[in-house]
Amino acid sequence: MKVEINGQKFNFPAQCACCGEEATTSVPIVATRPPKSENGKTKTMTFDFPYCAQCKSHVGKVAMAEGVFGLSLFLAGFSYLFCWWKTGSQPLGIGIAVMCITILWPIAALVYRAAKAGCSSSCTTPGKAVKFHKWYGFTYSFNIKSAASSGKRALMIRLPRFVQQFRLV
Ligand SMILES: [Zn+2]
Ligand SMILES: [Zn+2]
Repeated sequence: MKVEINGQKFNFPAQCACCGEEATTSVPIVATRPPKSENGKTKTMTFDFPYCAQCKSHVGKVAMAEGVFGLSLFLAGFSYLFCWWKTGSQPLGIGIAVMCITILWPIAALVYRAAKAGCSSSCTTPGKAVKFHKWYGFTYSFNIKSAASSGKRALMIRLPRFVQQFRLV
């Protein structure tokens, strides 16, 4: 995928970043920059990459699977520490932690399989085909797993200083 940069406007081709079909929607990719100083703020910038509806759907399912997986780890850790703190008993906490994992992991796997099933043969990956890489100055770089060239390609976007908001055009 190539991006055209023209003054204040950025043109993404109306082509899905995952499968290369006609894009009808977009998937937001967030770029973040850590604070420059100790009391500075983390800056974020959202780029809407073109996607087709089918690919947006499988990307959403992968995000959901990852969410369930993260939740299982959080609940397992939390229940273990909570039981230990409340009862001083570690085996009880371990039991509940194992239960959280054995219940939630198959659900996460199921959702992930559904995401994979939603992919067409030309899809690049069930998850996001675009990953934020680096932000320096007014330059943002992304790694794109392109469907055409199965490898990763870096995409650099340079924003002029005056561009505050960025939308797909
Ligand atoms: Zn697509
Ligand atoms: Zn796809």
